[in-house]
Amino acid sequence: MDFRISEEQRAFVDTVRKVCHKEFAPRAIKYLDGAWPAENMRRLAEIGVLGMAVPQEHGGSGLSILDTVLVLEEIGKVCYVTAMAALGELGVQTRIIATYAPDSIKRKILPRVATGEAILAICMTEPDAGTDVPNYRTNCEVKGDRVVLKGVKTLISRADIAEMFVVFTRVNGVAGAAGIGCVLVPGGVKGLSAKASFHTMGGEYLSEVIFDDVELPLENLVIRDNGMKRLLSAFNTQRCLNPAICLGLAEGALEEALRYMRERSAFGRKIGEFQGLRWKVADMYIQIEAARGLLYRAAVSGDRFPDPTLAAMAKIYTNEMSIRVTSEAIQIHGGYGFTDEFAVSRFFRGARYGSLGGGTTETLRNLVGRQLVEQMDLATGCFGMGTF
Ligand SMILES: Cc1cc2nc3c(=O)[nH]c(=O)nc-3n(C[C@H](O)[C@H](O)[C@H](O)COP(=O)(O)OP(=O)(O)OC[C@H]3O[C@@H](n4cnc5c(N)ncnc54)[C@H](O)[C@@H]3O)c2cc1C
Repeated sequence: MDFRISEEQRAFVDTVRKVCHKEFAPRAIKYLDGAWPAENMRRLAEIGVLGMAVPQEHGGSGLSILDTVLVLEEIGKVCYVTAMAALGELGVQTRIIATYAPDSIKRKILPRVATGEAILAICMTEPDAGTDVPNYRTNCEVKGDRVVLKGVKTLISRADIAEMFVVFTRVNGVAGAAGIGCVLVPGGVKGLSAKASFHTMGGEYLSEVIFDDVELPLENLVIRDNGMKRLLSAFNTQRCLNPAICLGLAEGALEEALRYMRERSAFGRKIGEFQGLRWKVADMYIQIEAARGLLYRAAVSGDRFPDPTLAAMAKIYTNEMSIRVTSEAIQIHGGYGFTDEFAVSRFFRGARYGSLGGGTTETLRNLVGRQLVEQMDLATGCFGMGTF
């Protein structure tokens, strides 16, 4: 369990932090209406952030999951919308392409991900099944050296601008989890349409995406048989990156609360002198540090992808912690905290997303509970070892 931060990591994170505070923080408010943070994404590409999940041979830096957690945490501290936009390039879709796609596709798309020219979308959720992956209806039929994809996905981020869609799909109509695979769909192909239909409380728009008999080369079907296990292993990365944003949101909210406590007066004193508020910020800080410990530990677990149980625990705790902490930060701001004048309301809106995406807290609790009851070796005991 070693997650000391090296000098190199510190220097990189420091560069990201400076850009975030100087450039991203002042314009964060404008993304609440759904605007795509294009200028921030360009800047993140320039300083090497968007290439972090891209292997070196394809123009990226192939940095670790912990590095990515540290960077998303910094962006989350100032701007939820930018952090979510960056997650699209640093998260599961890039990692699925980098791990499972043939070289011909990797060569085409990955260098463009690193430069920020190609935006990626991940399409899992369907109108009738989100969490319930084994019941997805989207189907990919193999016909000789071609495949034909048909189905509808919904609540999809970045779909209106994506250059490639990483689509979880049933293959050849095989029922249940055994039939789930993954196909890569280039934007703009015949039969693909996406419409930004839902404005979210976090700011961004989500789309419905229709695949109406989209025909593709067989090589685009990157995971075919019994792919659910491989797809969900890759998804354990997302279960560290989503909470990294939540950790940042909580930290940003605590910083704002502390600033306000030093400035605002009531009853002839700074409100920071009230013990009731000092206890609040103490509790906020304790929860942030507890979440950080769990999350960094999950990020360095596993070989290629993080340990599923540690990632689930880190996600559950950090997601729920960030809702509590950002809500308390609003409380410390009084009525102003509820307005758009102060960043804390934005932090709270963003934090509310965490427990919904990348595996809901309920289903992840199912995973942890199942591990404990069905797999835990009570004879040797392995609490704290991260091995169960
Ligand atoms: C901002 C945002 C961005 C998103 N971006 C994307 C994206 O890019 N791509 C994508 O594919 N999706 C995306 N989503 C969708 C998100 O992944 C889904 O909303 C999520 O997976 C939950 O699916 P659902 O909404 O269908 O809820 P459901 O699966 O219908 O769940 C409803 C409720 O039932 C609970 N539940 C379900 N099954 C169980 C169970 N077995 N035990 C206990 N409780 C259970 C859930 O936890 C939840 O509380 C995004 C969502 C948001 C809010």
